[in-house]
Amino acid sequence: MIVMGIESSCDETGVGIVAWDGERAILLADEVASSQDEQARYGGVVPEVASRAHLEAIVPTMTRAREAAGIDRPDAIAVTIGPGLAGALLVGVAAAKAYALAWDVPLYAVNHLGGHVAVDTLEHGPMPPAVALLVSGGHTHLLGIDALAAPIHEMGTTIDDAAGEAFDKVARLLDLGYPGGPVLDAAARDGDPEAIAFPRGLTGPRDAPYDFSFSGLKTAVARYVEGQVRAGREVSIPDVAASFQEAVADVLTAKAMRAVAERRVDTLVLGGGATANSRIRSLAQERADAAGVQLRVPKPRLCTDNGVMVATLGAHVIGGGAPPSPLTVATDPGMSVQISKL
Ligand code: ATP
Ligand code: MG
Ligand code: FE
Repeated sequence: MIVMGIESSCDETGVGIVAWDGERAILLADEVASSQDEQARYGGVVPEVASRAHLEAIVPTMTRAREAAGIDRPDAIAVTIGPGLAGALLVGVAAAKAYALAWDVPLYAVNHLGGHVAVDTLEHGPMPPAVALLVSGGHTHLLGIDALAAPIHEMGTTIDDAAGEAFDKVARLLDLGYPGGPVLDAAARDGDPEAIAFPRGLTGPRDAPYDFSFSGLKTAVARYVEGQVRAGREVSIPDVAASFQEAVADVLTAKAMRAVAERRVDTLVLGGGATANSRIRSLAQERADAAGVQLRVPKPRLCTDNGVMVATLGAHVIGGGAPPSPLTVATDPGMSVQISKL
């Protein structure tokens, strides 16, 4: 069975195609059109710009994916209905419905966050019960995974900025451009991660063990820079970048390891564009090794938003025997993965 996945929740128009062999998905095509360069002019994702870019890109991207996979039409279509930007989601969902109707194939509505986890199976095989840490410009989540087609437990999320968003805001503050993650990561390479003791949000004994907060950290960076400037001292961009990055990586990986221990699983999966960060990866690996936990990280292209993740989750949902969604299914911008807050 061939499944096409359509993703339009943020600034990537993704169309992926996988073959489902009854047990696992096999990648056939992965086409992504991004409006990131256009968004860079505004220093962040502008919802209206994203929606218009999706509208222009969706049909050509579907065509390219079908050509790359060498198929005329898929046997089923999976589409992200949430969480994401309302206007952006509408474009992908409308396209998915139109093609499902025209091709007379079933439609499956899936959750974007589940897709970020499912995509790892393409490279690393079946997913055992695991904890997933998703970090990108739009989300920061710790999820408990029993099985890919089963409901996901939301263990914690950010109470303010997403991790990638914190990178973007700190980079803007330092005048380094957008997106901030890659520039800060590069700058941090020449810096001392212990030069400045930036705060680790929500790590006190009475704080929610699996929630995150990065807005205080961003403010601390701003205050530090202002203080240096006021005192006539030079600001070391590498030291600020390395110390900031260390604070983010420390909190993310410490909470993820605690979640792994609490759920008594031995697998940690990373996903989302900010997992490209070298320190988040190396510290996660270090701490996973120390605890005897297997760390699974999809390759960078599959960590950022794409259609393959949607196709892969769709294939697992179909394989699990779920009924198709009605063609009247609505977008759900605030969609949660939550069945129980642990
Ligand atoms: P969504 O939140 O829906 O997954 P998004 O477009 O906000 O989508 P992605 O495209 O997955 O997020 O990832 C982009 C984010 O990842 C940006 O915030 C960017 O700064 C961050 N990022 C990319 N590379 C790095 C890096 N090396 N270090 C830290 N952050 C990074
Ligand atoms: Mg993006
Ligand atoms: Fe995403």
